[in-house]
Amino acid sequence: MTTLSVDAETARSDYAALVERGLFLDITRGKPSPRQLDLSNGMLGLPGDVFKAEDGTDVRNYGGLNGLAELRRLFSGFLQVPADQLLAAGNSSLELMHDSVVQAMLSALPGAERRWADEERVAFLCPVPGYDRHFALSERFGIELIQVPMTESGPDMDVVERLVAEDAGIKGIWCVPKYSNPDGTTYSDETVRRLAAMTTAAPDFRIFWDNAYAIHHLTDVEAPLADLLALCEENGNADRAFVFGSTSKVTLAGAGVGFFGASKANIAWWLGKIGKRTIGPDKINQLRHILFLKDEDGVRAHMRKHRELIAPKFDAVDRILTEELGGTGLASWTKPTGGYFISLTVVPGTAKEVVRLAKAAGIALTPAGATHPYGDDPEDKTIRIAPTFPELAEIEEAVKGLTVCVRLAAAERA
Ligand code: PMP
Repeated sequence: MTTLSVDAETARSDYAALVERGLFLDITRGKPSPRQLDLSNGMLGLPGDVFKAEDGTDVRNYGGLNGLAELRRLFSGFLQVPADQLLAAGNSSLELMHDSVVQAMLSALPGAERRWADEERVAFLCPVPGYDRHFALSERFGIELIQVPMTESGPDMDVVERLVAEDAGIKGIWCVPKYSNPDGTTYSDETVRRLAAMTTAAPDFRIFWDNAYAIHHLTDVEAPLADLLALCEENGNADRAFVFGSTSKVTLAGAGVGFFGASKANIAWWLGKIGKRTIGPDKINQLRHILFLKDEDGVRAHMRKHRELIAPKFDAVDRILTEELGGTGLASWTKPTGGYFISLTVVPGTAKEVVRLAKAAGIALTPAGATHPYGDDPEDKTIRIAPTFPELAEIEEAVKGLTVCVRLAAAERA
């Protein structure tokens, strides 16, 4: 963003014309579109009159806290967790992250001196930009959030290593390691190795490894990710990783299956606590997933259908941003090869104004600042674009309108 060029008068008249159109568009949340959900309609009729899992378990009944073994095996490779250390749970991974925090508050984790509720202070590192729901969940439980800048290879590990080594109050870090929300970054092997090997002042430090986009590729080049759990074990920190994932954006966002993976000690700890909360997960839904997806190739084929539907939307966002803002110095943006988001960086000090202008013109964007803890983007320059849900034509219209707002906000500030 070197050569700033914006013609204020044109920006103002373009904006007036935009408002005049009375649009009503929403690119706020990373939801699958109805057509993506349609891909899994075949699942709704399953499991039919089949109600036995491979080990003879009657899925209609209580029990089976670990989830169905065949489903855990199917996602074991994708999530890089040995099947016997992977649990298949309810419909959401976010609730598993929530419960992990709550259980750690209420009962000492393996390796902990005391439960988090009895600590003077519990802090988490938050690579920014990041996922607003991670931040909201932490804030709800009084966890202090410390920003760490993202780089092209993941969180700035020099900063992470220094902070966790000196501060025993830092108990965790939020990570979306593959096609991260919102900038699409995949952590490099070196970043993952350093996370696994670093010295932490807290004996009960946990990496919340939210691998929500593990298999959500947008191109033929599937980003590789190092195996955190194995690296933690190799480095004598076996209990450090909590791995999360789900089929929310594989099958049905409201009726998928969430997964939790960790060391054997962590899993035993977790089952001991969670067994007080539920007698077992919805195994009918788990069986439905197995019958529908079948095997790893089945999952890959299914994900390719998602890609066919959403990749053109990502391409359209990039094309319009390039046409309207390329070379102006007013913005830069990510070109993700997977995941659900594009991160748009505008002139510092204008992101809130861009979002306000867009809203007034009928284009709903994720609030500026949502990508940072406490909603505070110190430079006020990050905007998250979620292109999956609207139809292609709507996305094109919304992003075109957004570029008008980017230009006007920059002109107002100049
Ligand atoms: N983690 C990340 C990084 C996400 O982007 C989302 C959905 N936007 C979730 C978790 C939510 O996952 P689930 O549906 O499994 O609760």
